[in-house]
Parts: sequence; structure tokens; C-alpha cells
Amino acid sequence: MLLFSSAGFYRWTAASQPADPFAAHIWANVAIPCCKQHFLWLVHRHRLPSAALLRHRNIIDSPSCTFCGAHEDQDHLLLRCNRARRIWRLLGWPSVPYLSSFRELWTLPELPDGTVPSARSAILTAILWHIWKGRNELVSNGVHVPPRTTFTAIATDLELWKHRTKDESARTSLVLWSLHFRNIVI
Ligand SMILES: [Zn+2]
Repeated sequence: MLLFSSAGFYRWTAASQPADPFAAHIWANVAIPCCKQHFLWLVHRHRLPSAALLRHRNIIDSPSCTFCGAHEDQDHLLLRCNRARRIWRLLGWPSVPYLSSFRELWTLPELPDGTVPSARSAILTAILWHIWKGRNELVSNGVHVPPRTTFTAIATDLELWKHRTKDESARTSLVLWSLHFRNIVI
């Protein structure tokens, strides 16, 4: 029986492909459970099934965003749609919609240099994941997920993920950011 592991996949991709500086943010991050790592990998490879990608593959008829009607590619969905913009603005990161790539999130000054790299990846992945989940609730169920629910879900994830690392600095970062997300004033 073939057994799959993220670490094994990381070693395989590292060995079989040209050096990918971003890969470590995904696979060498102990704070992110496996399915979230795969989510970040899809985003990194621009394979998140946005409306534009599904239209390109002739799976759906329209590439339009369910929320605003714009062309829904990955960057629109995660960074620029008004639904995502509201999350970034409430978080106090208003420059995010103007980033040229989601990867620039990893260099934002809003996450201080002292933030442990694995915690930084966990925090950013949690935000992106819950923006994606909120989008799917709207597309699949017609439900508008309010920002407070998104922030609470991010905070809960970070609290859980702290148990996945023995690095005390990473744990402290995750706890502090979890509190921050719970205390955001809407
Ligand atoms: Zn939109």
C-alpha cells in the first residue's frame, strides 16, 4: 500500500523540480494541517478552482464572481473582491488588494520580522483558507459568511494549530494572533 505524507511529497517535489523558494512556506510548516498545506500548494500553483479556472476547463459556463460579478480568478477571489477586501481592511492590512501576488503577503510589514516563519505561514494560510471557505459557502449554499465568523474561525484554527509545534516562539505567535483575530472590532 502506498502511504502519502506531506514531508514525502515535499522531498519529492524538491528533488524532481527546480528549486522553489516558496515551497518551504508550504511543506516545511509544522503548524498547518495537511489539507491546508495542499490548499496553499494549489494557490501557489494557481490551481485554486476559481470560476475563471473552472470556466477555462469548460466545467462551468461563467467566470464571474458570485459576490460582485467581476472576473473571478484566484487573485480576485483571495485579494481583490470586495468580500475579501473587507476582511483585509478590518484586519488593518488595506494594501493587500494592491499586491501583485499573494506571495507578497509573506513580506508584509503587518507581520513583524520577529514572527516565526512557520507561524507566519500558518497565520496567512488560515486567513486565505477562510476567505476561500466563505466564498464556497456563498457559491454552494448562497450563504454570506460575516467577517466576525471568519475571524473567529481563523482564531480557532490558530489555537488548535499551536499544539502541532513544539517551538515555543511559534506557539506564542499563534496564541497572540489568535487573540488578535478574536478582538478585531467589526
Ligand atoms: Zn468578487
